[in-house]
Amino acid sequence: MTKAARTGGPFGDRERTAERVAQALVRIGTALRSEAWEGASARGLTPTQVQILSYLRFRGRQGARVSEVAEALAVTPATASESTHALVRKGLVRKVRDEEDGRARQVVLTAAGRREAERVAGWSDFLLRAVRSLPEAEQATLLRVLLKTIRELQRAGRIPVSRMCVTCRYFRPYAHPDPAAPHHCDFVDAPFGDGLLRVDCPDHVPAEPGVQEENWRRFVGA
Ligand code: SF4
Repeated sequence: MTKAARTGGPFGDRERTAERVAQALVRIGTALRSEAWEGASARGLTPTQVQILSYLRFRGRQGARVSEVAEALAVTPATASESTHALVRKGLVRKVRDEEDGRARQVVLTAAGRREAERVAGWSDFLLRAVRSLPEAEQATLLRVLLKTIRELQRAGRIPVSRMCVTCRYFRPYAHPDPAAPHHCDFVDAPFGDGLLRVDCPDHVPAEPGVQEENWRRFVGA
C-alpha cells in the first residue's frame, strides 16, 4: 500500500479530519473575538464588560454574584471583579444585598445597563444568521455535536460547566420511541428533540455525578 493510500492521500486521514474541525472552530472563534472587540470598543466597553452585561440580562432581576459571573464567563474572579467595578463606575450595574445571604452582594443591571445590554445583545447575530441558513435537521445535528464537544471540554477542565440539559437532574435522554422527540424534561414534563437541547437553562439543577454519567452514556449511545 502506498503512503498516499495509507494516509488518505492529499485529503488526509481521520486524524486530519479532527485537525480540520479544530481549525474551523478556531476560525469561528477568531471571527467572534474580532466582532466582540469591534462592537465593544465602539461603545466604550471591553468584550468582558459586554459579556457581563449580556449575562446579567440573561439572569434577569435576580442578578448574579461576582463569583458566578467569573464562572459563567470562564475568567478569573479578579478579572470579573475589575470589570464589574468598571461597569459600576459607568452606572451600568450596581451591587445590592443578596436576599438569601445578607453578607453577600448581587450584581444587577441599572436601567441604563438594561438599555445598554439590549443594544449589545445582538453582537453575535452574524453567527446566528449563518446557523439559521442551515436546514433545520443540520442545525439540530450541529447543536448535538457542539454539546458533545463542550461536554468533553468541561470534563477536561478547559471551560466551566454550564447549565446544559445533559447535566440536569430533569433530563431523561431517549425516554421516548419518537425519533423526533426522544428526550424528556421532567421540569416541564414534556418530550423534546435534539434541536431543543438547552446550552444554558435557567431551570437547570445539576444531577448527581453518577446520574450525569449514566445520562451521558445514554445520550451519546455508548
Ligand atoms: S430543566 Fe432545562 S436543562 Fe433541565 S432538562 Fe429541562 S430544559 Fe433541560
